[in-house]
Amino acid sequence: MSEEVTEKIWNKSHYTTTYKVRLYIKQREYLKLTNDIYNDLIKKYFDVLYERQELLELSSFNCLTELEKLTVIPKTGPRKGEVPELYFEQNAPVYLRRAAIHQAMGFAKTHTSTEERAREKSKKIPEVPKKFNTPTLFYKGMYKEFEGSSITLKLFDGESWNWFKAKLTNFKIPKDAELLSPTIVMHKEYILAHIPVKEYIEDITPIRYRMQEEDIKVCSVMFTNTDKFAVCVILDGKGNFVKSKFISGGKEYAERTGYLLRKIKKNNTKYKNYTANTRPWKKIYEIKKYYAHKVSREITNFCIENKVRVLAYADYKNQSTIDWEYYNRTIGEFSPLALRERTIEYLTYKTYKEGILITKVRPNYILRKCYKCRETIRRKIKGRKETVKYKCKNGHEGDYYFNGAMNVAIMCLKKFGKEIERKEN
Ligand SMILES: [Zn+2]
Repeated sequence: MSEEVTEKIWNKSHYTTTYKVRLYIKQREYLKLTNDIYNDLIKKYFDVLYERQELLELSSFNCLTELEKLTVIPKTGPRKGEVPELYFEQNAPVYLRRAAIHQAMGFAKTHTSTEERAREKSKKIPEVPKKFNTPTLFYKGMYKEFEGSSITLKLFDGESWNWFKAKLTNFKIPKDAELLSPTIVMHKEYILAHIPVKEYIEDITPIRYRMQEEDIKVCSVMFTNTDKFAVCVILDGKGNFVKSKFISGGKEYAERTGYLLRKIKKNNTKYKNYTANTRPWKKIYEIKKYYAHKVSREITNFCIENKVRVLAYADYKNQSTIDWEYYNRTIGEFSPLALRERTIEYLTYKTYKEGILITKVRPNYILRKCYKCRETIRRKIKGRKETVKYKCKNGHEGDYYFNGAMNVAIMCLKKFGKEIERKEN
């Protein structure tokens, strides 16, 4: 099991993805001992920082230096052997201490600002934490031989610090990537290594320049509330249709979440305690993540296969247009369309990694006008229900969401000043 988590940090030339990977180690208890020492250090440094809050004003590097001066007996220099003011005994390698100090600085900053806000609002001041329980961050110096399939960690075995090898499963280091300090998270039944991986992006040409390139192709995405999670259309720079893709699974998704929701409802009436629903809620969360990853992955692959470097979607978020109401009216919390924002979030970093850039277009009349003639369209009715087929006054007909995706792609081209050759057909 190896999966990407959602927190992504990127700038122009690189991005960082955190992978969660299963870790196997014989010496689980040493990992626990190390984690206890780590949290103990965090607590001690938290207390120092809480007493001397002026230290938090310093840069983190200077704060770290000051804290070490205050608590550690120097091994070299003019103050060699001198016992500092706030000395406390500690049995930890220097890099474990430094990771703990950084963590403590974060906690102290959060805590003092929460206190400050409470004071301002004359609310109850939160208590100072009695202890911490945070997973160990392994800085360089605390790990070695980090190769993708294994990592060697420095752990406390009850007597001293030694190196222990751990296995990692299903983790392939991306090409030319840089591994950053992992955090080891101990769960009841398994252990995960959260591994941040820094990768570099080759192509960072801005969209406006890309759009001027001769062989430019754009792909548009229209999210739907049907079995088709998304409809994608690729157009060339002149507006000619290249290819389309319908990404299904929406029905399956709605069924799977629906089943769990009914179960939750049943539990609510049957049991008075809410713990009965912890599992189904967790499962729903996992299903959501799974489909958002799957859909965003399929869209990304479709772009890669067709050498698309610009992706467009209609930005309905924060835009209250008539179009949005039209689009939005069937959304329930667990319907396929409600997965849209999360899918876009995953899609943004997945495509970015591949050198594909995303642009948003205004969602005006995307679903209500025919892409061929701009006439208002009507959805066909079958029985009492609207279907996914449409027809316009001029007799153009087809898939309602495909039409929307065509409009998005055309708007994207126009946004960057492309002339579109309209062919009536
Ligand atoms: Zn038409």
